[in-house]
Amino acid sequence: MILSKKFKNKNSLLIVPKYLIITGGVLSGLGKGIVSSSIAFLLKNQGFKICPIKFDGYLNVDAGTMNPYEHGEVFVLDDGTECDMDLGNYERFLNMNLRNYNNITGGKIFRLIIEKERRGEFLGKTVQMIPHVTNEIKRLIRETGKKENADMVVIEIGGTVGDIENSYFIEAMRQLALEEGKENCFFIHLTLIPALDVVGEQKTKPTQQSVKLLLEAGIQPDMIICRCRERLTEKTKEKISLFCNIDKNAVISDHDVSSIYEIPILLEEQGTVKRILEKFHLRYKGRKLGKLKELLKNLKNPKYEITIGIAGKYTTLHDSYVSIIEALNHCAMHLACKINIRWIETTEIEKGAISAQEALQGIDGLIVPGGFGARGTEGKIKCIEYVRKNKVPFLGLCLGLQLAVVEFARNVCGLNNANSTEINPKTKYPVIDMLPEQKKVKEKGGTMRLGSYPAILKKGSVVWQIYGKKRTISERHRHRFEVNPRYHKILQSKGLIFSGISPDRRLVEFIEIKDHPFFVATQAHPEFKSRIERPSPLFFHFVNACINQRNCKI
Ligand code: GLN
Repeated sequence: MILSKKFKNKNSLLIVPKYLIITGGVLSGLGKGIVSSSIAFLLKNQGFKICPIKFDGYLNVDAGTMNPYEHGEVFVLDDGTECDMDLGNYERFLNMNLRNYNNITGGKIFRLIIEKERRGEFLGKTVQMIPHVTNEIKRLIRETGKKENADMVVIEIGGTVGDIENSYFIEAMRQLALEEGKENCFFIHLTLIPALDVVGEQKTKPTQQSVKLLLEAGIQPDMIICRCRERLTEKTKEKISLFCNIDKNAVISDHDVSSIYEIPILLEEQGTVKRILEKFHLRYKGRKLGKLKELLKNLKNPKYEITIGIAGKYTTLHDSYVSIIEALNHCAMHLACKINIRWIETTEIEKGAISAQEALQGIDGLIVPGGFGARGTEGKIKCIEYVRKNKVPFLGLCLGLQLAVVEFARNVCGLNNANSTEINPKTKYPVIDMLPEQKKVKEKGGTMRLGSYPAILKKGSVVWQIYGKKRTISERHRHRFEVNPRYHKILQSKGLIFSGISPDRRLVEFIEIKDHPFFVATQAHPEFKSRIERPSPLFFHFVNACINQRNCKI
């Protein structure tokens, strides 16, 4: 592929795509996803077409079967792929919709290899890590770059160098650089620089060791990004430069900042992108941050302040709700509103240790997010009853819609003990039941109702207004249960408005009630489509309703 004219400069090699490969060292959980998507964001702003690929070494085919406790949120793409939450970072930073091929997992690769072997595609050969598995990885990466017509493929390798799970993938990257030409590949290594508390001295030994591991794998990093508490000192940079055989200016400080949206600025200021482009012989067009600076200004100088309650189950691990948190951050940036989040552990309400009223004291709005299983649901239902009756803004997401329907059925329609069959399979009034097509499904992986589905909005409804008076909209889904059609009539006759339904009229996609400042729930997960530049309309109007509820001006 030849790079389009717009990027040509005198000595440009004109070959695309270029490959940017990001590895991690010392520890996982250093924010590699944020750093990678920030760099991708900066490169996109330079005018390049970026194709991100995230590699996860685990043997699950996708993240769909993993517990959010262990691995954070399961993110869902338009095409129904259930994937690592880092894909969400790329979508949010790059404002683009990704696909299945943007996430490669160990499970996916080995499944492909074994399927090929059974088909006889390796006939006569002993199937081996090198070259068969590594060739498959390079093929997947090249094909994805081609399909996306990318100028640059940004490959983020999950975990750390030295993990058995990603060793063969790192080897594939070494081969890729050899085959594509070293000048077309740029390796970034993200490590941790701990500071000893007593003197605050920045220690470089773990970085030196992790770079050694990378060198053993045949890879010399072009840049080392250092995660640290305070800005990297000159002395630390010099030390890393000397011991890791790297230019001092290619040692970048990734110190603590108050918002993840400051990271692109932090990296840009240190010449990160300029350096990458220099190696690729491409022209750097100066600092290009889009609207980010302006939006960050709003975030730092808020005009309003509100507190939103999130009534979830995984409240101790905030990564389980990262898309919701980011969707709120996007609203905060656009509405210049400081949003405090209060995590409401609904199992406590369920046990009677605390009442819903006490738990929700002082909140300006409530979100009941998606979830699975029975634990905590009675507590969530109590919270929904409280906000419905006390006119506190409410946003229900997926399970949040289902429980709002249960609450309405019990307390407005008089269907005592109505429930979802997911929670109580023997309930007398199964107002939420499994989708008919789900009843025959046996396998668990990738079998829910997944991905983008359209909804037809009811003219004149709140949701219709929120989505700009569009008749049809589309949001992403991940569920097995739905509002039972047998109860549609009674729910509606008692005042529950079905403000969005599926085109075949079978499924309820949005509900709302009258005479309430904001009581909207959806079977979808609008948080997955919220972007820095374009907050989710549902979240935006929910936050706006919270602001308008009382005088939240600072
Ligand atoms: N557990 C519910 C279902 O499967 C809701 C799922 C969710 O909230 N994502 O339908």
